[in-house]
Amino acid sequence: MNLSDLTITGNIATGAGAVAAALQARAVEWDLALTVTPEALSLLLWEGELRLTREGERARLTITAPERRLVQVIRGALAEWLEPLGVQVDWPGARDEGALAPGLALMRLVEVVPQGEDFLRVTLEGPEAARFAQGGWHFRLLVPPQGRVPHWPRLNDQGRAIWPEGADALHRAVYTLVGQEGDRLWFDMVRHVGSPSCDWAARAMPGAEVAIIGPGGGTCPEAAVIWAFGDATALPALRRMQAEAKGTLRLWTSAAGVPDAQAAPDLLAALTEALPGLPPGTHVWFAGHEAEARAARALLAGAGLAKRDFTAVAYWS
Ligand SMILES: Cc1cc2nc3c(=O)[nH]c(=O)nc-3n(C[C@H](O)[C@H](O)[C@H](O)COP(=O)(O)OP(=O)(O)OC[C@H]3O[C@@H](n4cnc5c(N)ncnc54)[C@H](O)[C@@H]3O)c2cc1C
Repeated sequence: MNLSDLTITGNIATGAGAVAAALQARAVEWDLALTVTPEALSLLLWEGELRLTREGERARLTITAPERRLVQVIRGALAEWLEPLGVQVDWPGARDEGALAPGLALMRLVEVVPQGEDFLRVTLEGPEAARFAQGGWHFRLLVPPQGRVPHWPRLNDQGRAIWPEGADALHRAVYTLVGQEGDRLWFDMVRHVGSPSCDWAARAMPGAEVAIIGPGGGTCPEAAVIWAFGDATALPALRRMQAEAKGTLRLWTSAAGVPDAQAAPDLLAALTEALPGLPPGTHVWFAGHEAEARAARALLAGAGLAKRDFTAVAYWS
């Protein structure tokens, strides 16, 4: 087995029944597609498949995914689920112990430039930049504590990422990719007090090492009509929606200076006011403070929208 493979196979010598039960429980908890036959169990997750084939208490585990990173992500998740059962998988030929966590890219800071009063535009450089412009719009910026040599999460022998803790714990805020060209990518950070991410951006020197992990999270809803509501943290996502929406898009934002958007200092009030005129088939997208996102979710569900017809996400708390 080669770790660049998009299919990997491992074996467990005992405990197949317990593993099957754990996978079934996870499928229910995460609402994953599950197929069970007397000798095999298949779980679909993160665009891949995790298959368990039983021979009594022994079993073969096969992971297949369209990207090596996703194979590793699924293997890491499996290791986490099996840890409490005390079950270890033998992955013949696995040579990735000590490798960086899947999806993690080491980058160098190029520059931090103020964008108006409210944002900092952060540009990073690294050979994996192009990867972050495909798929999900978001990534986590991993910032080491000030004055500490960075320790990045690395894989253990089961393929599980072990994250630094205590004095070396990383700060992991989520951001939205704004642009990418060649080895460079950039994103916009809302400036606010008490922000470890902004503090890092303010003190880091060009060339400083930093890590990002992803991409993941949402993309543009596939709908003929989208109504989107967001605060400043959601502005980069709203701009991507403006660039990528295939149908009609209406925007409401509490952030300043967005042409083509309705000013909405109170996003919930704007949503409440707009809802009675919602055209059928519209996808409503809402992102902002956790409490507002929760209230928006209740409002939209209360107005009779099906789950698939709205997205309400907490961008900060
Ligand atoms: C999918 C997704 C995409 C996102 N995209 C972006 C993006 O492109 N740009 C962006 O700036 N943010 C974005 N965010 C929001 C960002 O992840 C949070 O604001 C995060 O808390 C920032 O981390 P921090 O280091 O600034 O502060 P934290 O360490 O998380 O928090 C420190 C303190 O700051 C407060 N705080 C956090 N955010 C804000 C804020 N915006 N205004 C005022 N106080 C705040 C917290 O309540 C806390 O008291 C996104 C979030 C998600 C989930």
